[in-house]
Amino acid sequence: MVNLSRDFFIALSKNKFLNKNAKRWGFQLGANKFVAGTNIDEVIEVINNLNRAGIRCTLDHLGEFIFSKEEAIEAKKQILYTLDRIYFEQLDCHVSVKLTQLGLDIDYSFCVENMLEILNKANQYNIFVNIDMEDYSHYERTLKVLKELQKYYENVGTVIQSYLYRSREDLEKLKNVRIRIVKGAYKENGEVAYQTKKEIDREFISLVKERLLGHSYTSIATHDHSIIQELIRFVNDNGVKKDNFELQMLYGFRTEMQYELAKEGYNFCTYIPFGTDWFGYFMRRLAERPQNINLIVKDKLYTKDNRLKKQPIVLSLILTLSFIFWRLGKYNTFSLHNSNYGIQPKGLANDKISKRKKLKG
Ligand SMILES: Cc1cc2nc3c(=O)[nH]c(=O)nc-3n(C[C@H](O)[C@H](O)[C@H](O)COP(=O)(O)OP(=O)(O)OC[C@H]3O[C@@H](n4cnc5c(N)ncnc54)[C@H](O)[C@@H]3O)c2cc1C
Repeated sequence: MVNLSRDFFIALSKNKFLNKNAKRWGFQLGANKFVAGTNIDEVIEVINNLNRAGIRCTLDHLGEFIFSKEEAIEAKKQILYTLDRIYFEQLDCHVSVKLTQLGLDIDYSFCVENMLEILNKANQYNIFVNIDMEDYSHYERTLKVLKELQKYYENVGTVIQSYLYRSREDLEKLKNVRIRIVKGAYKENGEVAYQTKKEIDREFISLVKERLLGHSYTSIATHDHSIIQELIRFVNDNGVKKDNFELQMLYGFRTEMQYELAKEGYNFCTYIPFGTDWFGYFMRRLAERPQNINLIVKDKLYTKDNRLKKQPIVLSLILTLSFIFWRLGKYNTFSLHNSNYGIQPKGLANDKISKRKKLKG
């Protein structure tokens, strides 16, 4: 069931129709729990409050499904404007960007040009720019763009996902780059990525520990309290300087814990998404953690005195119908996938099937 809901929400996150229309709906379904606002003005107060508590921030101006150069240029302008606001409002904040938002799927050189413009301004303001890691189909190109940008600027880094088999090797090549380590938010197949939570967690801990013993700055991005506790023990046992790393969590997640860790003296950074393009991001968060859905359902469907609200009934209906259509579609796709196995070399096909059968936690 966990995998079913994960697949469902990942599928919704990629649905162009819903993503496009969600911009017009404004925040719905409780998205404001995880997305700080639709524009930078709404978000500045949030950042100021976090900064006052000793928490720094990274701002992500949300944008998915960029199909034209005009859209990518508009996204770049928004990011440049965000940098201006961070600088002039004197916020303790950097930015996180996605290369697809800046035209990676349209034209590689155009995307690099956009990034250079962003880095140029960020560099003048002494602001760091993080390139978020997207799904595996963009992985190689993201690392390639990073390498290109590093010829000109140092204020840039990226993300390594512990679910990928190749992460250790890539991390080795990125020894001198500021890196955020995450578990990975997309659905990847067994040919490139670990499939079980146990393996992904094990790799996450191991990769972070390896980095912490080096000298480059590392952002440890997880909401997993047991992993955080284990890593804090490791830091203390090995005399790792607090200045060498920060803990990161997403806006709206484990807020109390975020404040506590900052109070305990750890560098803490909250990742703050904002903008009208909230749907894909929001669906990926629901995919990650079924409990988030309960939270939203309770908050959105019921009034304080436990009575059903009317408006969300329509939205629930949309979600239910989407789920039914998705299931129907999935059965068709599933049989296609199975026929694909037929043309694989036998060993590989069996391996793939057995890996896919292991359920991700
Ligand atoms: C700052 C940040 C940036 C990210 N950037 C990227 C990126 O660029 N690319 C990418 O692919 N992914 C990114 N991710 C997402 C990441 O890959 C994971 O999908 C996501 O963080 C879920 O993994 P987790 O370790 O946080 O918790 P999980 O593995 O989902 O949960 C582990 C355990 O933690 C506890 N827990 C988790 N969440 C909560 C909660 N809200 N309340 C209470 N307990 C909780 C529960 O006990 C749970 O069992 C980012 C995540 C963060 C935090």
